[in-house]
Amino acid sequence: MPTYVVMLGAPGAGKGTQAKLISERLGLPHVSSGDIFREHLKNKTELGKLADSFMSKGELVPDDVTIAMIRERLGRSDCSTGAVLDGFPRTPAQASALAEMLGGLGGKVDVVPFIKVEEQELVRRLTGRWTCRANGHIFHETFNPPRQAGVCDHDGSELYQRSDDEAETVVNRIRVYVEQTAPLVAFYRESGVLVEINGAQSIDQVTADLLAVLPPVGE
Ligand code: ADP
Ligand code: AMP
Repeated sequence: MPTYVVMLGAPGAGKGTQAKLISERLGLPHVSSGDIFREHLKNKTELGKLADSFMSKGELVPDDVTIAMIRERLGRSDCSTGAVLDGFPRTPAQASALAEMLGGLGGKVDVVPFIKVEEQELVRRLTGRWTCRANGHIFHETFNPPRQAGVCDHDGSELYQRSDDEAETVVNRIRVYVEQTAPLVAFYRESGVLVEINGAQSIDQVTADLLAVLPPVGE
């Protein structure tokens, strides 16, 4: 049976950082809706242009477009053993669509690590984030600096600051999270799959706490 992990948490909680690490450890693909939108934007596709009109304001891309994009991604052969989802679902409608699509793939949402971090810290993390142009590797100028400023440790590509990590947009993204995504915490808690993780610890400690609650893959 495939294994699906859904990383939940506010923007800046550390979902992408941890999803990259645990997807490697579990041998599952990392499926980040934000990364896929940014890839479309880089390639100047119609979807990329549409998504950017919402992303640049810190708003959510409409459900129908986002759901169709993730459905296509999870249907690809590299996701046959499952996936670590990061940034999806973000609304109750996306969560229902995910349950339906995973059922069709012979699986379900197995575990939802909810990474908790207080709001002030989220702002510090996002406004200091540097992202790798080639593969979306994530750094922080103070908390997780690259060996050489402006250069990705993993692939040598340029690091840039996302335009939606500017302070004003960050505040809106956190508001959108509280209004539209936070209800998923109760939804997954009631389904019995939510596990709370203290995100206000070192990156290594958060990874260790996550690995302790993740299911062995392929069982
Ligand atoms: P998300 O995907 O939830 O938006 P990221 O993984 O991109 O969050 O992390 C946001 C920022 O915080 C990045 O700059 C990252 O380097 C930094 N960060 C991630 N985890 C931690 C941590 N445990 N302690 C300090 N900084 C962190
Ligand atoms: P992220 O990379 O997860 O921080 O996402 C960046 C931006 O992409 C968000 O602020 C949204 O505008 C958009 N986005 C990413 N995932 C979703 C989603 N599941 N639903 C709607 N919009 C999304």
